[in-house]
Amino acid sequence: MRKKYFLSTFLIALLAITLSACGQNKNQSIYQTVKETKSITWGVKADTPLFGSMSIKDGKVRGFEIDLAEALTHKILGKQAKANFVTTTANTKIQLLKNRNVDAVIAAMTITPERKKQVEFSKPYFPAGQSIMVAKNSKINNVKDLNNKRVLIVKGTTSADAVRKFAPKAEILQFDDYGQAFAALKADQGDAFVTDNGILAGILRDNSGYKIAGGTFTNQPYGIAVNKGQNEMMEHINLALTQLEKDGTYNRLVEKWFGNIPGFNVKEIEKY
Ligand code: GLU
Repeated sequence: MRKKYFLSTFLIALLAITLSACGQNKNQSIYQTVKETKSITWGVKADTPLFGSMSIKDGKVRGFEIDLAEALTHKILGKQAKANFVTTTANTKIQLLKNRNVDAVIAAMTITPERKKQVEFSKPYFPAGQSIMVAKNSKINNVKDLNNKRVLIVKGTTSADAVRKFAPKAEILQFDDYGQAFAALKADQGDAFVTDNGILAGILRDNSGYKIAGGTFTNQPYGIAVNKGQNEMMEHINLALTQLEKDGTYNRLVEKWFGNIPGFNVKEIEKY
């Protein structure tokens, strides 16, 4: 009897040691994990100027969402806490959350009913809508003009559905990331490049010879995402967002990243 008792105690202790050696318990809530590790690992964009893009000089990601993620990390866990960044593409965000490779995603991610079935979204933190980028001499003026034209988009984004809805006769060509889609526009492989207005504004800032045709033709704001069921983490994110809005940090970051960008009305974003 006694021997049996010792044996089971030993086994339980062994299990506990193994679990803690493995780092985190996979069933532990994300909020518990980030609290213990005093860090949040964010999925961010690396190919999206202004929001998140990687510098080829030092390999660091920079952008509005990187700064916002850092500010949120400090609000949620305190000044000493660390924000880590893992880069995502439009296509990989949800899988990274499901696999626990990241704790949260802040990556130009539009809140959609489809995605809401798989992840929890924060309140919207940035307004966005589909826009059209064309060469300066293009005759395309609005979304209807995309019918019977070749339209370039990035895989896994909301753009394909938007183009199909508003210009059902457009031919859609899909690329893995923004660099490739824009390179295809430059190489005349398509007549227009469609994605969120803010992302196009970032590309336009760094490239001449192109323009935005017409206004935005959808209203698709961005939300921060965590895996389905991680409600405690989401509550902390929403609370921290509200605090950053109230203490002026949010507006400061909007000014920093979008203040001098043509086509942006910073006041509109700040009201958001
Ligand atoms: N807002 C778009 C979407 O959520 C673009 C995403 C992205 O560039 O990663 O589909």
